[in-house]
Amino acid sequence: MRQKIALAVHGGAGTIVKSTMTAALEEAYKSALKEALQKGHAILKDGGSALDAVEIAVRVLEDCPLYNAGKGAVFTADGRNELDASIMNGKDLSAGAIAEVTNIKNPVSAARAVMEKSGHIFLVGRGAEEFARLYGLETAEPDYFFTEERWMALQRVRDEDPTKTELDHGSGKSTLKKLKEEKFGTVGAVALDVRGNMAAATSTGGMTNKKWGRVGDSSIIGAGTYANDLCAISCTGWGEYFIRLCIAKSVADLMEYKGYTLAKATHEMILKKLPELGGDGGLIAVDKAGNIAMPFSTEGMYRGFVKSNGKVVVDIYRK
Ligand code: ASP
Repeated sequence: MRQKIALAVHGGAGTIVKSTMTAALEEAYKSALKEALQKGHAILKDGGSALDAVEIAVRVLEDCPLYNAGKGAVFTADGRNELDASIMNGKDLSAGAIAEVTNIKNPVSAARAVMEKSGHIFLVGRGAEEFARLYGLETAEPDYFFTEERWMALQRVRDEDPTKTELDHGSGKSTLKKLKEEKFGTVGAVALDVRGNMAAATSTGGMTNKKWGRVGDSSIIGAGTYANDLCAISCTGWGEYFIRLCIAKSVADLMEYKGYTLAKATHEMILKKLPELGGDGGLIAVDKAGNIAMPFSTEGMYRGFVKSNGKVVVDIYRK
């Protein structure tokens, strides 16, 4: 019998409430999710790899200015877009990541090139840009990433409290409320292909008003992205907490060492461990049987999936 295929995508978790959304905007968000799913599914359906499927799906969302990745990324405190991304192939545990790049059009493809061509796993800043140039990755002028919306978000955060990027975990949730509202929108994808292999990818602009070369979980293998022969995971949320909990790898470990199902392992990390520590966010995950889990602790998460039957399902709010 033909092995099942499955693909899930996310476009970030956060304070996404229906009352602040117009029908047209909601449709635009959903249509990008659908396009990502359709392009990824076309690859899987033709027997293509999970790795190719997650890369193409994330590229679609990076190109969509509504999401905080690639074009439309949020701004740093000094008014730049610094992009982070990672990708992992569960088949052989190969992985690649980049952080703090400013001129690579599709950071996820640069992460893949790092995985396949650099002999390393994680390249940052100028070195990563130099590597990308050397290997012919498509570049973009810094103003390609600019969107009025994200620029205004930076001004709003600065006006309210320019120190807000100091992620003082001791200061409690309330003082960081606005910051939390501004910081989600990362994109990601997980897939299972016909050969039973899984892959995961994540890409982000990070958080509005970030400073000092801050890097979140999205480009950190084991924190924001992980894939092995049991599952593939891509996270979104308050990066500092995802790093501290090694969320993505912990899901895989709960399955491997404790025999948890995908649903139980993802529930444990996102709905128990993460809030216990004071963080929030969500993830998408797939296992070898084609089960998909998409838990989130926030009010909403842009998300969607498609399985072997080709039916594309997208959603935004909590049910
Ligand atoms: N996890 C990302 C970060 O902390 C943000 C997000 O998911 O929106 O950089």
